[in-house]
Formats: sequence, structure tokens, C-alpha cells
Amino acid sequence: TATTETRAFEAEVAQVLHLVTHSLYSHKEIFLRELVSNASDALDKLRFESIADPSLLAGDGELHIDISVDEAARTVTIRDNGIGMSRQEVVANIGTIASSGTRRFLEAMAQDAKADARLIGQFGVGFYSAFVVADRVTVLTRRAGAGASGGVKWESDGQGQYTLEQVELPERGTAVVLHLKADEDEFLKAWTLRSLVHRYSEHIAFPIRMPKDAGDDEGATPEWETVNAASALWTLPKSEISAEDYQGFYKSLGHDFNDALAWSHNRVEGNQSFTTLLYLPAQPPFDLMMGGRDERKGVKLYIKRVFVMDAAEELLPNYLRFVRGVVDADDLPLNVSRELLQHNRQLDRIKASCVKRVLDLVETLARDEPEKFATFIKAFGNTLKEGIVEDPSNRERIAKLLRFASTRGDGASKSVSLDDYIGRMAEGQDTIWYVTAETHAAAAGSPQLEAFKARDIEVLLMSDRIDEWMLGSLREYDGKRLQHVAKGELPLDEAGKQKQEEAAKAAEPLLARIKSLLGERVEDVRVSARLTDSPSCLALADHDMAPHFARLLREAGQ
Ligand code: ADP
Ligand code: MG
Repeated sequence: TATTETRAFEAEVAQVLHLVTHSLYSHKEIFLRELVSNASDALDKLRFESIADPSLLAGDGELHIDISVDEAARTVTIRDNGIGMSRQEVVANIGTIASSGTRRFLEAMAQDAKADARLIGQFGVGFYSAFVVADRVTVLTRRAGAGASGGVKWESDGQGQYTLEQVELPERGTAVVLHLKADEDEFLKAWTLRSLVHRYSEHIAFPIRMPKDAGDDEGATPEWETVNAASALWTLPKSEISAEDYQGFYKSLGHDFNDALAWSHNRVEGNQSFTTLLYLPAQPPFDLMMGGRDERKGVKLYIKRVFVMDAAEELLPNYLRFVRGVVDADDLPLNVSRELLQHNRQLDRIKASCVKRVLDLVETLARDEPEKFATFIKAFGNTLKEGIVEDPSNRERIAKLLRFASTRGDGASKSVSLDDYIGRMAEGQDTIWYVTAETHAAAAGSPQLEAFKARDIEVLLMSDRIDEWMLGSLREYDGKRLQHVAKGELPLDEAGKQKQEEAAKAAEPLLARIKSLLGERVEDVRVSARLTDSPSCLALADHDMAPHFARLLREAGQ
């Protein structure tokens, strides 16, 4: 007995629906990419599960995605013969907001009224994007392994409620039927859909099929033709892949609809063989902007072309979490679990290789493509700094890539490398000097700099929150000590030393008086060569924390 059940969306789903439909109007076509990518995920899941249980394929092992149009009914249908969903799964997956990423997204949107389509595009709006072009969406789905009567029909107008019904479905998999809004007729045109497939889904690894143009032969059952390249792009030789192909594949990964900044594609042959195709985005992806460190996504692990899982955390360290791409390993067991991956020696080697490739790529940009490198530093420079602490084995390489503002740089712009600094050091200088503060203006205006300016010694100006933490692990670079300007001895020549001793003697009575006034509040009061214009400043002993860092810790309740 087929009963129809009506349910309400979670409050947050209604919110997402509202935001998506109101923000994506200039990128409506995104719905197709999202639905095709879901279909592709469903095919990946079926292929993976069928390794352990081949009966799931039920004699239909040719996995594909079909897109068709019914002009009379004004519908577009995206159908896959993938894993499908049970009733419970439908409720869990498309009636609620499962991912904490979506919740963060909502918070961000609520805070920033101007949050735009770019943000949504990077975030990946998923299934709900269907409602950008449709005023009613029907999902017909049957889980692989379930019988014909195990079909489920889900339907909604995107206004807060949906219906669920048990139905007979002859085949496994999922069909999403979009009942187009009145003014969305362009998506009924086959060539519009085809060009969108080319733009966004060309390198989905499964065939995307559309009906062949039947010509005059109305009423004939349509023949299907594949309209995408359907190649696992990373398996092709580099010489056969154009820059456009690489960019297209990047977009089909589904995290960004802007072009990637750069990529690195490599095949490692040997007793352990694997392929990596890794991309640097041009802008921080949504999760990174939110400082979200949980649920890292974006690097897919394949084993011999079979998608196994999103394994960003297993394949790349945290400080490279902005990297996107694919790793395809030949020799890992297909039944590998996440737990196993975390303690897998082979995977450790692949991970080390991924890190090397990414650093190579960034080095190449630094050397050959200054503009792209500047874009990279602007977007990810601070994230990369985490690597100084997290990855001691690559510390020197990472330090070489960092860029800072400096008293000899160009205002607040971060463009000075440690090598630039060393190249400009005076004869005999063995220390890289820096100052840290909460803002660039405070760093640049610090009275601590006076003596350095007077002696024409360059000082790096650090004002990012992460700098102090990073500097705790960056004591040395290329044999030179890094030192805060408020610490240690200033470099003085002989004449300077003598002058200072004389000054100290002359000031002795004054110092004694100041010390007795300040008492316990200071450790010592000294005559200093640090200042030229200001009468006094606070200085730190070598073991002291920089003042603004001490303040940060206090703020954090430490
Ligand atoms: P995401 O793909 O990021 O998980 P979506 O909103 O695109 O988010 O999809 C939500 C969930 O709905 C998917 O995770 C999946 O479980 C389910 N789903 C969507 N489309 C399909 C499909 N064609 N076949 C099977 N499951 C699907
Ligand atoms: Mg999706």
C-alpha cells in the first residue's frame, strides 16, 4: 500500500534553500555540475561496494549518467545507475543538513550580507542547487541490492516540506527530475546542457550520455551518445592533456568554479607506483577562510582508478590543506580503511611525495611566475607558515618560500624573502632581525626600530597572528640567527661601544633613582643604544615572550 508521508525540512535546510536560490542567480547553471557530481559519487560508491559484493551490480556493470529533457513536461532528468538510496538514506541525506561545513557556511552567510555567489560556488551547494532552476524536484531512487518494490519517491517544491512515497522502480540508482521554473527554458535545449557538461563535467570518470538527435524520426526510442571525455584524466600522458583539460578537471572536482592557479601532475614508477595530480587554488576555499580544520576534503584517493575515499588528511599535512586533487595508487589493498591508512607505510611514502611535489610547484612559481607566486602568498602564505612548526623536515624549504614586510620592503606588502634579507646584510652581520606586533603600523612604528634605522640595518616587520608561534620554531635560517629587535645585544662598532660605556657611567645616578622608583616592576634599568629619538623603551631578556604574544596568550586564557 503506497502511502504518502509529508515531512518538514529541518529549519536549516529551509535557510540553505533560501540562501542558495537567492545568491546563485548569476550562476544558475551550477545545478548541473552539482547533480552530475552526485551521480558520479553514487557510481563511485557502487563500484567500490561491488568489489566486496559483486551481486550489487546485478548484471548491469556499465556505469553511466544519463541526462534527458522532456520539452512537453518541461523537465530535465539526471539519472545514474549507481548506489541509490534507501528510504532512511533519503531522509538522512536530503532532508537534513549532515555536514558541519554547511552549518559553518550558514553562519558565515548570516554574518556577511554581501557573501556572494563566489563563496557559494567554492563551498559547493550540492543537491539544493536544483531549486535554483526548478520549482519542483522529484527524486526516484532505489538502493543497489534492494528489490523493485524498494523504490522511494521524494518530492518537494523547496518551500519547507517534502513528501516520501514507496514506489516500484525497475532499476537501481537515482533519477533527479527537475520541473523547470517558468523562465528557465534555456535548460530545455540540448545544446545548452551539452555545453555545460563540457564546461563543468568533461572529466568525470564515467560516461555522461544524452539522446542522439533523432532528426525527423519522431517517436523512435532514442539512442544514447556519450557527450563527455569520460577519461580518468590523471591516467593520460601529460603530453595529451591541454591546460584547458587540466582546468576543466579541476572544476569537476567540485570545490571551486574559478581556474586553478597551478598544478603538478606526476607518475612515480617503481616497486611502489602511483600517480598524483595536485592543484593550487587561486583563492582560499571556503573552509580555509573559516579556519575550519575538521572535515578536510579535496584530495581523492583512488586505487587503480577506483575511487576509495576523500583522504586529504591522510595524504597531505595540515599546512597544505588548501591543495586539491587526486592520488591514484597501484599497490594499496582496495579494502583499505581509514584506520589502516593512518598507519600505512606505503601511504607515508605517497604523502611525503605529495608534500615534495607541492613544495616543488610553489618553488617553480616563486622562480618563474612572480605574479602567480604573489597570488599564492596572498592566499596561502599564512597557512604555509604553519609548516615551519608542523614539518621540521621541510623547515628550510618552507622558510625559503615565505615573504615578509620589511623596513626595506614596499610598505605593508609581503614581498621580502629571507634570502633577500641575507643578500642585503652588511659585512659581519650574523643576525636576521625582526619585530612582531599586532598590526603592520605598530610594527613599522615601533620605537625598537630607531637604533636599527640609525645603523641602516633592515628589520622584518611581522604582524600576522601566526608569526610569533612560527618564529618559536624558526630560530635559524641559512646559518643566521633570527632575533627579535627587543632581545639580545645590538651590533655596535668600537667607537659605539666606547660611547655607550661613557654614557652609562654618566647616567648611573639617574638609573639608580629610576630603579628605586620602579622597584619590583622591572628586572633592570640600563642605558641603551637602541633609541635615538624616544627617551626610553621596554626591552626583553632573551627568555622573555614578545609583549603582544604574551597578551595573545592572556586573551586565550592561558
Ligand atoms: P555532498 O555531495 O557534498 O555530500 P549534496 O547536497 O550534493 O552533498 O548531496 C547530499 C547527499 O545526498 C549525498 O552525500 C548523497 O548521500 C545523497 N545523494 C545525492 N545525490 C545522490 C545520487 N544521485 N545517488 C545517491 N545518493 C545521492
Ligand atoms: Mg554533491
